[in-house]
Parts: sequence; structure tokens; C-alpha cells
Amino acid sequence: MNDCFILLAAGKGKRFNSKIPKQYINYKNKPLYVHSINKAIESNMFKKIILVLDKKNKTIVNDKISVITGGKERYQSSLKALDYIKNNNIKNVYIHDAARPNFSIKLLKRLKKNLKNNKAVIPYIKTENSTKYKKNNKIINLDREKLLFTQTPQCFDFKTLYKFSKLNNKIITDEASLFLNNNMRIKFIKGEDNNFKITKKTDLNKFNMKYFFGIGFDIHKLIKRKKLYLGGTRIPFHSGLQGHSDGDVILHSIIDGLLGALRKKDIGTIYPSNKTKFKNIRSPNMLSPIIKNLNKDGYYINNIDINLICEKPKVYKYRDRIILSLSNLLNIKKNQINLKGKTVEKLGLIGKEKAIACEALVSLNYYA
Ligand code: ZN
Repeated sequence: MNDCFILLAAGKGKRFNSKIPKQYINYKNKPLYVHSINKAIESNMFKKIILVLDKKNKTIVNDKISVITGGKERYQSSLKALDYIKNNNIKNVYIHDAARPNFSIKLLKRLKKNLKNNKAVIPYIKTENSTKYKKNNKIINLDREKLLFTQTPQCFDFKTLYKFSKLNNKIITDEASLFLNNNMRIKFIKGEDNNFKITKKTDLNKFNMKYFFGIGFDIHKLIKRKKLYLGGTRIPFHSGLQGHSDGDVILHSIIDGLLGALRKKDIGTIYPSNKTKFKNIRSPNMLSPIIKNLNKDGYYINNIDINLICEKPKVYKYRDRIILSLSNLLNIKKNQINLKGKTVEKLGLIGKEKAIACEALVSLNYYA
């Protein structure tokens, strides 16, 4: 595995007309560029991943990823990245625009397969539009069957691309242009319709985004000689929560909130308490299959608000810890989660520290 993935995310996005550079806009609940980085990591095809940003970024901690700052123009950013890896014994290099967050790992694999006998492999799509061309103030018809619209990721033999990049000083819109300008053969393969480029703000309106909300509630009795788990983390306490599972009321409420927003019944239907196979199941294991399918089905968590209802333990003491644990389990940022503590004026079972209850409100975005 001697391949490198370069993500170009240093542009100013003039056509996007926004205060925040396009690569950082929120797309499907993540900064736009993060989608491509995640896919490169998930593909497991790369020895190195180079993220070219417009400014330094110290929040990315992953030993495979190097963050560098780009140049003024795209071709300069691309050359800076190639310079950066020149001594890393890289065989193939994939160059991708952050504005195309929707390519598939399948496409990466097809590119790789085709690179075996080629020095440049470029994905393209065709157009359905009738196409004209302006030449010397005259408009002429073009045969759309002969038009190729190129996409990224584009993949190349590193040495060849690096050589052409160093010699180039012209503005180009993709690296395939370098090969064409040098009369080099390119293997064109079919791209993906879904791999469109987000250029203008109105491109984001192409999605039909909907909101869904779900509410969850749970209560468990406190019993001695059991460990207490709240939000997937162990909390020191004199008792733990009784139940078929570890009795984690926070996770159970969140699961029911998620299922509610997904319109998929409730936790008891998915994990019936009379089934021995779910006996003593840890609640994070009940949550993880739901989270795994969530994004696949087009849903993204917007925020979660939680009321933990108990006399003790005091929520403020463990808030940060619980939120950190939840953000890891739910794969969302800490600032998408809020945890409130609520006592019941020492009333009833909860007031006498015999039970803990919880309610959670979950909001999901859905991109059709
Ligand atoms: Zn429960």
C-alpha cells in the first residue's frame, strides 16, 4: 500500500458567496471536506492522506493524515502536496476536490484497478443537455455524445504527475489537463452522477432535507451490588440500575428517541427482554447497530437534549464525562449534546434514591 490521497480544500469558493469558505460549510452535519477524508480513511487504500487547507488546522489528529496549507491557485496547492510527499516512496496518487463529498469507495477501487496499465485514470460523466459552443461570436452545435465532463478523484502515477506539475505554471481546473497538455494518454472511466460538485449555495438546495424528532423515556430501579452506567460510562455510586441489560437509562432514552425519529417502534421491540441472547447486554452494543445504519439511510443527528432525573449522583460532577462518552458512541460533536440534571424534591422512589429516570429528545436531519 504505497498510495496517497490528496484532498484539495484550500479554495476561497468565490462562486459560493459565503463568509465561511465552502470547504467548511456544514453538509450532512459535518464540514464539507470531512466527508472525503472519512471516505479515504474508510477505504483503507492509502498509506498517506494529505489535506490541503487554506490555513493551519491543529484539530485533526490522525497519524495517516498530514495537513498542509495550500497555494493561491489550485495547481499550486496540488504541487505543494506533491512536493510534500516526494520522499515518501509513493507509487500512485489520487487527487480530489473537497467540493465533491459524495464519491463512492467503489469508484476509488475502480480507479486503482485501471491504473495498473495506465498512468492516469479519470472519471467522467456525460451530459443530457443539448450543447452549444461559442466561437468568434458564433454559436455552433456540439455533439454531446463526444463530450466528457471530468470529475475527481483522479488518479495518477506519482512520478509522471509530479514531473508535469513541476513544469506547469498555467491555471488548470484539474490534473487531467496536465496530461492532455503534454499529449499523454489518459484512461477515462465512468464516473458517478451522485459525485456532483457543490459550487453554489443553491446546489445545497438540491437536497430535500427534512427534520424528524423523537422522544425517549426510561426508568430503572437502583439496586445494591450493581455497577452504575450512565451514557455508556461507569459512574461511581452506591448502587446500579436493575434490568435485563446494564440499565443505562440515558442510552435507553436516546435509543428510543432515535427509533422514534426513525419511526421504527421502540427499544423493547428490537431487544425483547424475554430473549436470553440479550441478557446482560451492554447498552453501547444496543446503540451501535442503530448508529451504523443511521447515516447509511441518509439520517444525521442534529442535536440531542437529555433530562437525567435523579437525586444523586449529581449531574454537574459527571456531565463532561457523560457527554464525551455519548459523543464517541453517537459519533457526533460534544456541542450537539446537552445534558440537564433534574431532581424531584425528594419525592417518590426517585427522590429516595431508589430509581433513576431519563428523557431524551433527538432531532435528525434527513437528506432525500
Ligand atoms: Zn431501560
